This record gives sequence, structure tokens and C-alpha cells, in this order.
Amino acid sequence: MSKENIDKIIQEINIERKEEWRAVLRKSIRAKARGEVDRHHMIEREPNVRNKVFEEVNLGYTEELAIAEAKRCLDCPSPTCVQGCPVAVKIPSFIKLVEERKFLEAAKKIKETNSFPAVCGRVCPQEDQCEGNCIYIKMGKPPIAIGHLERFVADYERNAGKIEKPEIKNKKERKIAVVGSGPAGLAVAGDLAKMGYRVTIFEALHEPGGVLIYGIPEFRLPKSIVAKEIDYLKTLGVEIVTDFVVGRTATIEELKEEGYEAFFIGAGAGLPIMLNIPGENLNGVYSSNEYLTRVNLMKAYKFPEFETPIAKGKRVAVIGGGNTAMDSVRTSKRLGADKSMILYRRTKKEMPARVEEIAHAEEEGIEFKYLTQPIRFVDDGNGWLKGIECVKMELGEPDDSGRRRPIPIEGSNFIIDVDVAIVALGTRPNPLIPTTTPGLSTKRRGEIEVKDNLETSIPGVFAGGDVMRGGATVILAMGDGRDAAIAIDEYLSNKK
Ligand SMILES: Cc1cc2nc3c(=O)[nH]c(=O)nc-3n(C[C@H](O)[C@H](O)[C@H](O)COP(=O)(O)OP(=O)(O)OC[C@H]3O[C@@H](n4cnc5c(N)ncnc54)[C@H](O)[C@@H]3O)c2cc1C
Repeated sequence: MSKENIDKIIQEINIERKEEWRAVLRKSIRAKARGEVDRHHMIEREPNVRNKVFEEVNLGYTEELAIAEAKRCLDCPSPTCVQGCPVAVKIPSFIKLVEERKFLEAAKKIKETNSFPAVCGRVCPQEDQCEGNCIYIKMGKPPIAIGHLERFVADYERNAGKIEKPEIKNKKERKIAVVGSGPAGLAVAGDLAKMGYRVTIFEALHEPGGVLIYGIPEFRLPKSIVAKEIDYLKTLGVEIVTDFVVGRTATIEELKEEGYEAFFIGAGAGLPIMLNIPGENLNGVYSSNEYLTRVNLMKAYKFPEFETPIAKGKRVAVIGGGNTAMDSVRTSKRLGADKSMILYRRTKKEMPARVEEIAHAEEEGIEFKYLTQPIRFVDDGNGWLKGIECVKMELGEPDDSGRRRPIPIEGSNFIIDVDVAIVALGTRPNPLIPTTTPGLSTKRRGEIEVKDNLETSIPGVFAGGDVMRGGATVILAMGDGRDAAIAIDEYLSNKK
């Protein structure tokens, strides 16, 4: 979210902290005593059980564990955790409500700034955001488990069946089109619907949810949770049209002619980056996008009940070190591979995946081959993959990304026997919308260019999330959606 919008929320948090019940609660336990309690771990499925099934790995806090963890929070006068959250969730305010056992009120508090806490509590990189900014880190102690608490509160509300629907006061007849139903599109649609606008989401796939539904696997983010968030949007009046590819089924210009007055492009970054090395077209070599979409969205893991074939592989190598790579390699293990491994050209320290995902992968028996760069996929003579030729790397000086540059070691070539390889090197925005929308400016790698208020080079057309940033995170996409809703409202209010 923009700094201006975040500052407004921080002012509200400061006022909330001064409420009398908060002062009483703070004094009920001495700060020193709060700080002496260890962080509470979330219950997890056993590694050797979970690496064979697609059920969720984390099982969440009990009520008592949540309250015990909430008691650790010092309710700081200047909560640095909030500054670390891209949508400025009112962290101390909701945690203190948990301490008071007011779980439903806590859920309401989070939802003032984050519409999808059950998702964010599960997939946000908290260690780099809220938890990474917790005061306890400076004191050499483990941070408050903010993500676990967010997840607990959201799950409690959902299981209680008491999800509150806000009253929509100012219903307007003006129509807004949202392209894409990932976190950016869902967030902008929810906020605009609450403001009273008529919002339609156009989604290319047959199911809404974006990466939440086709990328992140069931064992990390159950699809039923995403479906509930989408049902909630529908109760706000948001219309979702699936199997509709903007740029093919209709262009933005054509939708304008149908009466849509403003647009938000949240089409994500679905175009895989490949290695461009010999043998990449062999059978058995997948992009992570295709692999995960087949397994998650098309339910290949339930073959033959669902008719999506997939090469399961006995020895599987995933190339990359991000969340997508971790999801792919853990999926391959669950599909029955004897050996599932990560090939990464740097070391564990430089890996961009969430710390929890790397730890879970290690526990589940995934092998990590660091400082390893593939240079050729090896053909078995019948068009199928039988191995990957790699070179060993060493780390040099930092490059543009700030991480140390990997350099090949001459003559260190070796072959790893595998029958399935998955390339998980990141993604770029698909060029379809820019090429079918005259006047829409993009950057060098295809990201849509926007001004500070997220408006593109075309007045009334806004963009956010991965299509504007390149591959980023769920919470940044949601924050863009929220900012864009404010900007679209302003645009339409000023437009005659
Ligand atoms: C496997 C994987 C794991 C990840 N894990 C994490 C994680 O743990 N934590 C985290 O924070 N982030 C994670 N990310 C990144 C995160 O999911 C993305 O940053 C986020 O989903 C971006 O949201 P978005 O709304 O911009 O785009 P998306 O989620 O990509 O949604 C875009 C939607 O637009 C649709 N679309 C595209 N083109 C068109 C068109 N022309 N017409 C109509 N619809 C269109 C697509 O079908 C899609 O549904 C992960 C990404 C992947 C791939």
C-alpha cells in the first residue's frame, strides 16, 4: 500500500492503543514476564506421513496456544511490526483481542485492512515482513508468531460460520471491469464492491483464484479456504466471469463499449522463464507453471478420477530456489518419486523461498544440491529425459540482485540421472493484454508501467500485482488492489 494510506492506518492504531481496556491488559502481566515465554510452535503433520499426502502440513494453533502466544506481545507504543506489513494490518490491536479471547473481534480488526487473512496467515513471508520487524528480534528473542495468530483468528471465524458481511450503503450503477482473479484482482474487487460499485471480474481459467488456486499446492493452502474467500466476494455482489480471456474473448476497448468505465488489470505473471538449454523440449521436462497447474487445478494427483496425465517420475530434479521450486519438489515427492531434489546455482543462504518452506522440504526428505547449474537435458534416444548435465559453480561478487554471482567452474561437468525435470526460474507477464490494448505502456521485461496511483498510460485503466511488479508476493498484490480501489474511486468521482 502507499505510504500515505499506511500512515493513516498507523494513526488509527495509536488511538486504539490508548483505549482503557488495552492499558489494563498491558499492566496485567509485566513486560519482563511476557518476554520470558518461548514462542509457541504450530502443530504440524509428521514429515514422513505428510510427504505422501496432499492434506495441509500445518494444523494451526489451539485456542489456548493462541492466547499464550498473544500474551508474549508487548503492545509496543510504536509497533514496528505494522511498518513491516505491506497492508498495515493492525497487528497489536488484533493480538490483544486474542489475549482477551475475543477471536471474532480480532478477525474483524484484521479485516479492516486485509480481506484474506486465512490466505496471508498461511503464505506471507512473515520473517521478512511483520515478524522480521518485531521488537523481540532486536532483543535477541524469537518474534511473536504473527502469521500463526492471523491464521488462527481467520480459521476460527470461518469455522464459527460467523463471517460478517459489511453493509453497502451507497450503491452505484457505474461498472468496473477487473482482469484476473488472483489476490490483486480479488482485493480491488472486494474494496470497490464495498464502495457500492458494480464490479465484474474476467478470469481466463475455469476457476477463480489465480496462483492461490493453480500454483500454491493444497498441502500449503487448501483450496476450500480460497473458495470461501471468493464466495464472500460474491455475497458483496462481485460478478465473476470465468473462461474469459481479455485480449481474446474481448479486448479492453470492446469492454469499454459495453459500459465499463474503469479497469484494473491484475493478470499476474504467468509466462514461465525457461533455461534455454539443449533438450528443454524433451518429454519429462516441465515448466513449474505447467506442472503445478496440472497437479493443483487439473487435479492430476487424483488420476484417473480426474483425467489429467502427468509424468510422476522416480527421480525428479527441480531447478530453482524460490517458493515455486519448493512447491514443485514437495509435490513430486507426494506423487511418489523415490528421490526428489533441488538444483540451485547458489547456496542455501541466497535462496529466495520462505524459510518455513525450505525447512519443511528438508524435513520431508528433499535433497538439496547447491552450486549446481544445468547446461543440458540428456535424451534417452526416444525423446524422453534420462539425465541433466550440470556444472559446479562458485560464488563471486554480488550482482544486481545483491546476491553473490554464481560462476561456473571449468571442467566440473557431471550428469545427474533423472526422469522428470521441472524448471522453476520465475515468470514474466504475458504480453497478450499489452499487445491488444493500443497505448498501454510496458517496461523492458513486459511489466505494465504505472504512475504512483497505479494508473497506466491509459486514463481509467489501472494495474497492480505481478503484472506490474513481475513475480512478487500475495500481500503486495493485495496491497496494490487496495490502493487501486481508492484511486479508481477517485478517478470515477472526478469523471463526469
Ligand atoms: C507456485 C507459487 C508459489 C508461491 N508461493 C508464494 C508464497 O508462499 N507467498 C507469497 O506471498 N507469494 C507466493 N507466490 C507469489 C504469489 O502467488 C503472486 O505474487 C501473487 O499470486 C500475484 O497475484 P496477482 O493477483 O498479481 O496474480 P495471479 O495470482 O497470477 O492471478 C492472475 C490471474 O489473472 C488471470 N489472467 C491472466 N491473463 C488474463 C487475461 N488475459 N484475461 C483474464 N484473466 C487473465 C490468470 O489466469 C490468473 O488467474 C507464489 C507463486 C507461485 C507461482
